[in-house]
Amino acid sequence: MPRVVTSACKGKKHGDCVEVCPTECFYEIGDMLVINPDDCTDCGACESECPEKAIFPDDEADAQWVKFNAGADFGSLKHILSKSEITR
Ligand code: SF4
Ligand code: SF4
Repeated sequence: MPRVVTSACKGKKHGDCVEVCPTECFYEIGDMLVINPDDCTDCGACESECPEKAIFPDDEADAQWVKFNAGADFGSLKHILSKSEITR
């Protein structure tokens, strides 16, 4: 059961979440980040760090955002391993 990023991340992309993720789950998709559910161990560290409260457990998030994260084409997206890699 992974965490998912939702609409509140749009246009923000602080990256605080990226810095605390132990399993490098975050990818950039346009003006927001998404979590690769295959890599997420559901540790919850990112959820507490996000200043926009954009991250939720998948069973608490709107279904459209669960789909949006899980359905991302991770092979073609930029893998974000630190804040400094986020496109500004
Ligand atoms: S900390 Fe929150 S708003 Fe910032 S990039 Fe991560 S999910 Fe998006
Ligand atoms: S819940 Fe943990 S493993 Fe999953 S994206 Fe957040 S920090 Fe990474």
